[in-house]
Amino acid sequence: MNATDYDVIVIGGGQAGLATAYYLRRAGLSFVILDAGEAAGGAWVHTWDSLHLFSPAAFSSLPGWPMPAGDSDAFPTRDAVIDYLTRYEQRYGFAIERPCVVEAVEPVMDGLQVRLTTGRRLTTSAVVSATGTWSAPFVPTYPGQDQFRGIQLHSAFYQSPEPFRDKRVLVIGGGNSGAQIFAELAPVAAATWVTLQEPVFLPDDVDGRVLFERASARVRGEDGPAGFGDIVMVPPVKAARDRGILHAVRPFERFTPDGVIWPDGTASPVGAVIWCTGFRPETAHLQLLGCVESDGRIEVVDQRAVAQPRLWLAGYGNWTGAASATLIGAGRTARELAPRISDALVSEIRHAPVA
Ligand code: FAD
Repeated sequence: MNATDYDVIVIGGGQAGLATAYYLRRAGLSFVILDAGEAAGGAWVHTWDSLHLFSPAAFSSLPGWPMPAGDSDAFPTRDAVIDYLTRYEQRYGFAIERPCVVEAVEPVMDGLQVRLTTGRRLTTSAVVSATGTWSAPFVPTYPGQDQFRGIQLHSAFYQSPEPFRDKRVLVIGGGNSGAQIFAELAPVAAATWVTLQEPVFLPDDVDGRVLFERASARVRGEDGPAGFGDIVMVPPVKAARDRGILHAVRPFERFTPDGVIWPDGTASPVGAVIWCTGFRPETAHLQLLGCVESDGRIEVVDQRAVAQPRLWLAGYGNWTGAASATLIGAGRTARELAPRISDALVSEIRHAPVA
């Protein structure tokens, strides 16, 4: 299509990168995926051992090839997701370079240059950044935090409850990570769940599909399914609720070297804090393009960066498309993204000055 090495370079080979690749191929564009991971699977390789999907396999598939349903488990395990993503990229034989870390993307004449940490440089007409959020965990600041002598761990690095056995643990964060990690720690540790507001649970018979429908409705400017909460009642969370231990308290005021002080002045000893406080978009490699905001986001219209029209975003969250950080949402947003890129490149050629 032009004089660059590729029409498109996709940065990141997780589910969003693979879904993008599927539709770029359909659009007839040349591309390569550059992925920092040692192996296939994106963020799923790093999630905790017991993590299950919120939704059945049939509702967690990338385009073209449905996730196998498995024998017994309606909600696939993280290992099943890694296996699916591994087989998905093998099935389609995408060009993927791995491990391959992109250090920076810079504008050059008629395109973008992608610089790798090895010093190698590639040129492209467009970049799709699909680097997810896992490598940018967010931890809020609390007074006295730097003096606290206990363990502090973000959920990004949590694997299993065993290292916390018999410890006094605070699990901080009112989303699904906080609920699931608290639920599996509570039976083996003296765990307290700390959330900004009272957590709101989805009914038992509702799964992650409703979150997708709600995200889609919000993007369309509608209200979406009403009366539902945010936390999916996966089996460990349900079990904690049935044992009567699924309770959360509002935040403490400050840390001490050995614990925390609550708003009523009470002090509690604490051995470990697990921050389930979310992530920011991993966009450090895009800093030189001058479009990254302080929270890591980039202003986009229809997945295209407003300040750099050769840059497109996939995954990350609803701001790049409805539920784009989920398996099902990644496919649906990629289906719209590839033709948009193709149209942009064709119109660029049409309007290029004749030599
Ligand atoms: P990632 O999977 O993070 O992939 C990004 C890739 O980019 C990685 O391989 C990374 O190595 C690479 N990368 C990063 N920086 C660079 C760089 N500079 N150069 C090159 N490569 C780079 N999702 C669902 O669909 N269903 C669920 O039920 C579900 N449940 C979840 C439950 C919990 C508790 C949590 C925490 C998440 C859940 N998710 C679920 C979300 C899902 O885990 C992630 O949102 C998803 O992995 C994001 O995919 P992605 O492709 O956008 O990013």
